[in-house]
Parts: sequence; C-alpha cells; structure tokens
Amino acid sequence: MDELDTIVTSGTGLRDLLESIDDLVCLATLEGRILYVNRAWREKLGYSKEEIGAVNSYQMIHPHHKEDIQKTNARMMAGEELLHVERTMVSKTGQQYEVEGSLSCRFKDGKPWYVRAIFRDITARKQVERMKDELISMASHELRNPLMAIRTSLQLLQEEMSPADPKGRPAQIVELGLRNSDRMLDLINAYLDLAKIEAGAAFAQKEVDVAAFIAHVVELIRPLGLRSGIEIREEHAARGARVSGDEDRLAQVLTNLVSNAMKFSKPGGAVTVRSEQKEGAVRVSVVDQGSGIPEEFRHKIFGKFAQAEGHRRGGSGLGLAISKTIIEKHGGRIAFDSETGKGTTFYFELPRRV
Ligand code: ADP
Repeated sequence: MDELDTIVTSGTGLRDLLESIDDLVCLATLEGRILYVNRAWREKLGYSKEEIGAVNSYQMIHPHHKEDIQKTNARMMAGEELLHVERTMVSKTGQQYEVEGSLSCRFKDGKPWYVRAIFRDITARKQVERMKDELISMASHELRNPLMAIRTSLQLLQEEMSPADPKGRPAQIVELGLRNSDRMLDLINAYLDLAKIEAGAAFAQKEVDVAAFIAHVVELIRPLGLRSGIEIREEHAARGARVSGDEDRLAQVLTNLVSNAMKFSKPGGAVTVRSEQKEGAVRVSVVDQGSGIPEEFRHKIFGKFAQAEGHRRGGSGLGLAISKTIIEKHGGRIAFDSETGKGTTFYFELPRRV
C-alpha cells in the first residue's frame, strides 16, 4: 500500500474531498446536533467551524418547513432510504437560500444514529423558473381572449358556409383552424390551471372513499377506452380505505393517468386501476401494458410541457405536472415504474384517513 492509498484508508482524502466540493454536506442527529458540516455549508450559511458546533441544524432551516420536517423524519425513522427534499435555508445573517437534495438516516442497533444531508443551492434556478412562470402566465392571459375571438369567428364561418360541400376544401380549412384553436385553448387553460394550483388555490378537504372514487372515475372513462378497444379493469385491495381531499382534483389526476395509460396502450390491451393499503397511506396505481417510457425521458416526465420525442399523442405535456402538484398539495407523492416495451405503472399515495 503506498502513501496515496493510505489517504483513503485513513479518511483524510475523503474529508478533503468533502471540503472541496460545492454541494452542502452535513451529518447530524435526528435531534439536530451537528456532527459535521463541510466548507461549502459553513461558507454559505456564514458560520465558522467553531460557531457551527453550537448551532442546531433545524435552526438553519426556514420555520415554514416545520410540518414537513416532522413528516420526513417520521419517514426516515420508518426506514425509508433516500428522501428527496427541497428546503429554504437561512444563514446566520438571515439570508435565504433555496436548496434541494437528499436525506438519509443511518441506524445502529435498530435505532436512528445520524442523518446524512447533501444539498445543492438552487436559488438562481428557482428565480429563473419563477420569472419564466410569470411570463408564461401573463402571455397566456393575454392570448386567451384573441384566441377565443378567432375560434368564434371560425365557428361563425363554418355556420355561414354552404352546407352543399361539407367535405370541400374551404370546409376542411375551417375545420383545421377550429381543431388547432381548440388545442391551443386546451393548452392555455391547462397552463393557467397549473399556475392557479401552484399559487395556492384552495382545495376541499372532504372524506373520500378510495374504492368508490376510483369506480366513479373509471365509469366515466370506460366508454373512451372501449372506443379504442381498451378494457379498464379495477382491483381493490383497499376497500373501505379513506383519504382526505378534493375529490374533483383527485379525479383530474386519476383521469389523466388513465387516459395516458390508454393513449400509450396497444389496441385490445388492458389498463388496470388498483387500490391498496400501504403503511399509513393508500396507494392508487394505474397499470398499462403499453410502450413504456423511454429511459432518457424519465427524469423530466413531471416537468412542464414534457413530452417524449417521437412519443407524442396530442396532449399538452402538462397533465403530469398538474397531477404532481395536486398530489403533493394533498400531502402525498406520485411516481412510476416503467419497462420499455412492457408497460408502465403510475401510482400516487395519499395519507390514509383514520
Ligand atoms: P400529455 O398531455 O402530453 O399526455 P402528460 O404530462 O400527461 O402530458 O404526459 C407527458 C408525456 O409522458 C406524454 O406525452 C408521454 O410521452 C409520457 N407518458 C405519460 N404517461 C405514459 C404512459 N402511461 N406510457 C408511456 N408514456 C407516457
């Protein structure tokens, strides 16, 4: 073993590595006692090595995360491995930073031992995103009225046109114009809907019986499936389970997942909607045997206007972004498993109402 090997075995090289990176790294107990923070962390939050020992780690996180911290700690204690979180951090002088990263807990003798936190500063990115959202919202509002006027004009034109030649060229052109203005209106409405939810539109907080809710949504979509030769099945292992929330908004999510599943299924295929109980939560899954989601597209699927290359079937690319926001505002999470060529399962989990 030469000298270079010993810098790894002795740990000095690894500490050197941690001190040299720009990501913020911290080891702390679940109670917030800091065991180690790296240079980037100390510099960003304005503490010296000496000062940091006297700081509780939660003191550096904005108080509006209080409830979420309790939830993530509970999930870590229940053994969840790597949790992705976004946080606002507050420096010694009160400066705020937006960070994202992962938390994971190390256990000893079955008890939580210490937490590893690795964060990245995304303040600049968030600011650009906010500006972009504001711009699109403004443009959407401004575009909607003239677009509605164009659509009305086209409709009037269609009514005025001689019915003698409904398949003639002028009729086709008007039809094409109407179809495209409808698509554009759908897109603008979906975007404005998302902006409204993100801005904190209120949701109802009613009791929802999950199996009955699924049955109701499926009943409404089933005819659409039959038209394209796709059967929708239901499997309920969570009969009687209830969640709290806004049934119309949850129906919007489930409808989006089922219609995506149908869009990407082969004719004659089946889509299964399943409910099951998880610890403290109810999971609703939508399983298809369709084309699967291309590997390179998976990480951005919940992003706005995200549609896979060569994998579009109309739509706005906003459905999943809206679904994610709705589920997260209900205190739940949404995710998927997919195998190219074999199919995809999208699922969401909501806290079970007891
Ligand atoms: P869209 O309105 O385009 O369907 P979504 O946000 O609902 O918007 O979906 C975004 C994209 O994700 C789709 O265009 C498609 O490329 C991909 N996708 C969503 N669901 C599935 C699925 N079940 N199977 C395969 N690809 C899917």
